[in-house]
Amino acid sequence: MERTFVAIKPDGVQRKLVGEIIGRFEAKGFTLVGLKQMMVPKELAEKHYEALNDKPFFNGLIEFITSGPVVAMVWEGDGVVASARKLIGATNPLASEPGTIRGDFAVNVGRNVIHGSDALETAQREIALWFSEEQLS
Ligand code: ATP
Ligand code: MG
Repeated sequence: MERTFVAIKPDGVQRKLVGEIIGRFEAKGFTLVGLKQMMVPKELAEKHYEALNDKPFFNGLIEFITSGPVVAMVWEGDGVVASARKLIGATNPLASEPGTIRGDFAVNVGRNVIHGSDALETAQREIALWFSEEQLS
């Protein structure tokens, strides 16, 4: 069954959006197969976002993602990779539709509440990076 990696970023945790976000994925019909709240080690943050390491915002992004607890999750279901991206909305919250998580809860691209894997291969890479086999049901 298809799986994707989703993480509620430090702003989402700090703003107490964890229950709201998990509820949306559950209501859609997806199954939670991994869940942990953690401080993200700098090395993990850099590996997670390594495709962006030449961007001008990279250092700020790493600083932000390591600034407070993150809720890391693996969700399972048919078409979950693309569907999670739809539930999450466009990267820039000013462009994301109302009804999406970013569209409803964010205004700033650097504080956009949540991450979701952008493709099946990315999902596999990110799940392996964040979770061990024993942590997944
Ligand atoms: P994510 O990977 O976090 O789910 P995304 O796939 O929608 O987001 P990416 O292009 O992978 O977008 O960018 C990763 C993250 O980097 C974004 O979520 C955002 O927090 C940050 N970011 C992207 N573009 C900018 C920018 N122009 N300025 C500041 N931060 C940015
Ligand atoms: Mg991305």
